Amino acid sequence: MRFLLLPLLCLVGCQSAPKDPPIDWAIAVHGGAGTMNRNAPPARLQAYRDAMTRALAMGRDMLAGGATALDVCEAVIRSMEDNPMFNAGVGAVFNEQGEHELDASIMDGSTMQCGAVAGVRTIKNPISLARKVMTETRHVLLAGEGAEKFAKSVGVELVENKHFDTEGRRRSLERLLRERKRTGSLVPKDRRYDYGTVGCVVLDRDGRLAAATSTGGMTAKKWGRVGDTPILGAGNYADNYAAISCTGTGEEFIRHAVARSVTARMAYGGQTLEAASAAVVHDVLKEGDGGLIAVDRDGNIATPFNSSGMYRAMANSRGLFKVAIFR
Ligand code: ASP
Repeated sequence: MRFLLLPLLCLVGCQSAPKDPPIDWAIAVHGGAGTMNRNAPPARLQAYRDAMTRALAMGRDMLAGGATALDVCEAVIRSMEDNPMFNAGVGAVFNEQGEHELDASIMDGSTMQCGAVAGVRTIKNPISLARKVMTETRHVLLAGEGAEKFAKSVGVELVENKHFDTEGRRRSLERLLRERKRTGSLVPKDRRYDYGTVGCVVLDRDGRLAAATSTGGMTAKKWGRVGDTPILGAGNYADNYAAISCTGTGEEFIRHAVARSVTARMAYGGQTLEAASAAVVHDVLKEGDGGLIAVDRDGNIATPFNSSGMYRAMANSRGLFKVAIFR
């Protein structure tokens, strides 16, 4: 009798507490954090939601088809660099001289391989050049003229600097330069001029994590300023704990090695992804600095930010598919 009852009890027990299936793959995408206005024209907010939805759907379909984390990161970021709504590739912000200098990086958490470019001016898709730095050189970060020379040798697509121009970003530059003259302050009051950096973090079906980030930096930036985006460990990072992509005031993210701090808290402090990323964004950074997206090796996703908004989107193999802008 005991032998009959035991399997029966087990069956009942198992049925009453069904377990979620493990997460095979997960992805999060951001389109920048900053001072975003809930009262902006609804059509404008919807256009951003649509753009985020398209980028996320592309990543989801690739992952469901078995693509690698790195391929998904590169493809999603390329598509956002080609979209003038974002501050990356076409649509990048202008520097003080009315030109564009772009930064990007990519990292494979399963091998710790990574590549980055800083201050490039003629590369149509900086994220693809960053990946070439990773695969075709023994270096991690190439900057300025050297990066452009390298680009010619590996055959990535080159464009004139004005390819990245958009009217909206030019107006932002003019407004900011006027504000500087009036207030005498080099640092704008808030981040309304800059948002639109793009990032993607992925866990693929084989358990590999990767992160990629691309940006035009900050409006009216000076003297070859480089932000956190191409600094591995600051604005972008992946290891075998998590993949992180940041957006916000780059100087603060560099100062606090934000992306690496999240995985260090997990590795050395045993924190969960959610606790580690929330602590860095809310306790270490200051209100208004920005935010990050993160995915861990179990497919958990975190998207904390301390600005008024962050364009973000996330999906996983269990059917999650979500796009959001405000808190
Ligand atoms: N973090 C970028 C930078 O400082 C800008 C941004 O994410 O909005 O270059």
